[in-house]
Amino acid sequence: MHELAITQSLFEIVLEHARQAKAKKVKSVNLVIGEMTGVVGDSVQFYLGILSKDTMAAGLKANIRMAPPQATCRACGKTFIVPEMAWRCPDCGSTELEVNGGKELFVESIEVE
Ligand SMILES: [Zn+2]
Repeated sequence: MHELAITQSLFEIVLEHARQAKAKKVKSVNLVIGEMTGVVGDSVQFYLGILSKDTMAAGLKANIRMAPPQATCRACGKTFIVPEMAWRCPDCGSTELEVNGGKELFVESIEVE
């Protein structure tokens, strides 16, 4: 049920933006979900369908972009996408990494009418 609460708060943001834009209808939403959040895009998609029923966002299309884990090496400064949770710098082998991607969870943009 993790995704329901998350989808609810994302959906509120969508409606808030739509109201500010004085929109009549929300056509689509672009979401970014970090792979490290453990949030399943399909579930968010599913709950959005339920939550948007009988609202100005009914039938909205959700485009979900999954953001892969990304880290910067503290030893050599290289920034890279972490492959399958192998937390080691591909250049120098250091494990002193700073995570700077993969935990995102936000509404990137919405399209309204
Ligand atoms: Zn390195």
